[in-house]
Amino acid sequence: MKVIEHLNQAKSTLFSFEILPPLKGKSIQSIFDGIDPLMEFKPKFINVTYHREEYVYKERENGLLEKSAIRKRPGTVGICAAIMNKYQIDAVPHLICGGFSREETENALIDLQFLGIDNVLALRGDSIKTESTFRPHPDGHAYAVDLINQVQGMNQGNYMSEDYQLEPTDFCIGAAGYPEKHFESMNLQTDLQYLKAKVDAGASYIVTQMFFDNQKYFDFVDACRAIGINVPIIPGLKPIKTLQHASFLPKFFHIDFPEELSKEIVKCKDNKAVEQVGVEWGIHQSKELKAKKVPCIHYYTMSKSSSVKAIAKEIF
Ligand code: FAD
Repeated sequence: MKVIEHLNQAKSTLFSFEILPPLKGKSIQSIFDGIDPLMEFKPKFINVTYHREEYVYKERENGLLEKSAIRKRPGTVGICAAIMNKYQIDAVPHLICGGFSREETENALIDLQFLGIDNVLALRGDSIKTESTFRPHPDGHAYAVDLINQVQGMNQGNYMSEDYQLEPTDFCIGAAGYPEKHFESMNLQTDLQYLKAKVDAGASYIVTQMFFDNQKYFDFVDACRAIGINVPIIPGLKPIKTLQHASFLPKFFHIDFPEELSKEIVKCKDNKAVEQVGVEWGIHQSKELKAKKVPCIHYYTMSKSSSVKAIAKEIF
């Protein structure tokens, strides 16, 4: 079933979460171990992130550098199929522009359709570590809106392979939104206009970047509505778990911690104490969002379910 159908049919705020494919070499059981503890809260869909290859330079005997690609995590298609097969719950693969030609994107979408996966979260992806700015594949897409156009084109039966007629796909497309602005954007209004372009191109709903101050989400929703973005906007929440998160999350995701939260983190002596603060903050955020009747709360588990479980127990 499509995410938008789940949202439209919901009588109260839904529960969903995102997992990360495990590092190469681990089995599918490591994914199930992260999902099992959260099943009692009846998630309507589970997102699976996509991770690009990384490039490393190795010095050869002649002193020259050799560039080689490393993929640390398996792709999402097989993981989504395994989740749907085991739990009968919709899995939402993240599809990115980075590293993909349009033909490879089309093939990935054909695989998804073949497996009965009819949801995708369409993203641009970030630059890889060896590049200072995002560089699209020479035959790929520069922005998420272009990827959405391709998926929506296939939904209308427009494929790149024209040698024989293929059935139109029927994907429900989600897009990313940034209550605190995407870090590359000149300002929030410009970013919102590009978000609107993604919705106009065919995104049926938006999932937000994590935020720790609900007011930023409420303001973002108001700003979206003001420019005619009328699709559901799902808030994304991440429970803080470690002292390292306190500096890593703002730096990596370009978000702020509210002063009240940072004061609590500063008092923590170890990760256990931070985890407790993260759970309490997550409960506080979730209660307020639920009271405001948000369509769904989407939790970033990073494949560690204990904090999300503690929060969900209080909310769902
Ligand atoms: P876009 O919508 O393309 O926007 C990127 C930037 O370009 C923005 O600054 C925007 O304002 C600007 N822009 C957009 N369109 C245009 C245009 N036509 N012309 C000029 N400027 C434009 N990354 C992964 O690699 N794997 C994942 O699984 C993953 N999952 C994510 C899930 C969520 C919910 C979110 C919020 C992010 C996720 N990301 C993931 C990170 C995401 O790929 C990065 O934030 C990326 O930098 C932007 O992706 P986007 O789809 O928002 O890009």
